[in-house]
Amino acid sequence: MSGARILVLGGTGEARSLADSLVDAGIDTVLSLAGRTAMPAASRANVRTGGFGGIAGLSTYLRAERIDACIDATHPFAARISANALAACNAVGVPRLGLVRQEWVPVDGDRWITVDDLGQAARLLPAMGRRVFVAFADGLEALAGLDLDFVVRRAEPGGVALARAQVIVDRGPFVRDAERDLFASLHVDVVLAKASGGTAARAKLDAARNLGLPIILLRRPEPPPGPQAGSQAEALAWARMHAAP
Ligand code: NAP
Repeated sequence: MSGARILVLGGTGEARSLADSLVDAGIDTVLSLAGRTAMPAASRANVRTGGFGGIAGLSTYLRAERIDACIDATHPFAARISANALAACNAVGVPRLGLVRQEWVPVDGDRWITVDDLGQAARLLPAMGRRVFVAFADGLEALAGLDLDFVVRRAEPGGVALARAQVIVDRGPFVRDAERDLFASLHVDVVLAKASGGTAARAKLDAARNLGLPIILLRRPEPPPGPQAGSQAEALAWARMHAAP
């Protein structure tokens, strides 16, 4: 094991997989989780759980744990931790890399409408159908006034801020044919999803295209400035460079 220590900010499948590959490469690796998931998938890295306490807390952590480099592999919509990581790494002088999912690009047959926020989605939905499949559970207060039926899929058990909502608890991985059967059996008219990008969450888009269903996609926040990797292999190469004695 090399002497350097890498912090991977996680909460995604990509982060877990990257952390495992760093461990396999002999790099001392800490995988950090927010603690939202009751039973997170196992990792070969050292796992720490819970918020750091903002920029100041993360700066203190980076120093106290002698972190040599940090890879932000959080979800593209987890904007606060990404901004905090950028600021803390800059403050402490720890090199930082963002592992950024490839953006989705529509193909023939896709019926996507991209919106900036859920308020905009709320204005469009009533004209698009009666039954809405929502692929996330946060921020749904913006849809609460709509006279529509919702099916909300969330990764962890919990309520949703909608009166007429059926809740499905499932964290995937999802495959196209099962997604298509699910949408058909639920008589879904329209899908509402975050434009997260990458491969893991893509199946619902392919299923919707198969069924000719429209999708409202919530635009993802811009990733913070600074160096980026578009793949695990690139992130691993960057980490090896920073872990070299
Ligand atoms: P967020 O709004 O960016 O972060 C809120 C706070 O949670 C942060 O300020 C930080 O607390 C703590 N936190 C977030 N990620 C952390 C991590 N990896 N390690 C330690 N603390 C972390 O994030 P969010 O949207 O609530 O997402 C929470 C977690 O779920 C993230 O790790 C993300 O990767 C994962 N996730 C999010 C989504 C999504 O759609 N947002 C989807 C799938 C997975 P302190 O300020 O106290 O440090």
